[in-house]
Amino acid sequence: MKIKTVEPFILHVPIEQKTISDARNTITHWGVVGAKITTDSGIVGYGYTGTHAELAGDQAIAHVIKASFGPILIGENPLEVNTLWHKMFNLAPMRWVGRAGIVHLAIGAIDVALWDIKAKSAEQPLWQFLGGATSDELEAYNTNIGWMSNSLDSLVMQSSAAVQEQGFRRLKLKVGHANLSDDIVRIAAVRKAVGPDIPIAVDANGKWDLPTAIRFCKRAEDLDIFWLEEPLWFDDVKSHRKLCHASSIPIALGEQLYSVDAFAQFISRGAMCYAQPDVTRLAGISEYLRTADLAYCHRMPVAAHVGDMGQVHVHLSFYHEMTTMLEYIPWIKRCFEEPIKVENGLYAKPQNPGAGTTLLASSLDNFGKPLA
Ligand code: MG
Repeated sequence: MKIKTVEPFILHVPIEQKTISDARNTITHWGVVGAKITTDSGIVGYGYTGTHAELAGDQAIAHVIKASFGPILIGENPLEVNTLWHKMFNLAPMRWVGRAGIVHLAIGAIDVALWDIKAKSAEQPLWQFLGGATSDELEAYNTNIGWMSNSLDSLVMQSSAAVQEQGFRRLKLKVGHANLSDDIVRIAAVRKAVGPDIPIAVDANGKWDLPTAIRFCKRAEDLDIFWLEEPLWFDDVKSHRKLCHASSIPIALGEQLYSVDAFAQFISRGAMCYAQPDVTRLAGISEYLRTADLAYCHRMPVAAHVGDMGQVHVHLSFYHEMTTMLEYIPWIKRCFEEPIKVENGLYAKPQNPGAGTTLLASSLDNFGKPLA
């Protein structure tokens, strides 16, 4: 099998709430920047990465896919994903301009498309192709109720509905208000509404400094918080380590880390309790698997970041032995042939061959953006 074409695409998908905010970001659309790879066997692979759509460099990622990596992939065997990942990663001119950021997001989209081709050629869903599921149950935790832009009343109402009507067994709330009391009031209100048995995680999106995070943890101690996600600046190993020692609330992070080496720093220095890798930052499934296996070596639970890579991460989560739960954000599922599905708080195992990334033709018509 040989690669015939590598074509980028861009979708800007409006989110259902119109606008949402966390401690750092306010967005109206989710950006899906992808690679469509056509082979001489007729198999077509799709991969994508995630952006905040407007002003997010979508055109730059698409350009890197087409102009920098496309030419070195055409004519190659797409089944040799490991070879091709290293060929892209070690392409000297691109390594010179970025071992992270836009270059990594572009490699990530291509890598996912190559794994999609591999699994399709074996006529298996990716989780099965990788070796099979380690559990039939994958719990979904709902983040979509917990945005900071959601008023207190709406937050409580939507949290109750998610648990009592939709069957979610876990929730995650965004924190990082200017006044810590606002965060505490919101968590306490949700805790009261859903009862003591629903795990509630919180996510500060890297907003705080160490003293603020320590103050928050002291005040939140009685609220039984499942994990505190990204409390501090993303790359600050030393302060996360201090926070892990200072607080009884477990620390989760990883969605902003660009390499298995970065995870190794946090894990080896006792600076995190839950690993949250993302194929977007990690330049695809290949480095994600290395990262999840690193966590396995330390018996550390892995809970993939979603926002909004759930189509791919659901496969990796069913497959990997360290993963028992996955975030749920439903914004872009309508773009794909086999959308992610949650029933009674559990993810359905995908059944279609591939990585879950095959686009509906209508997605490009409805949400497609012209390439520059
Ligand atoms: Mg997060």
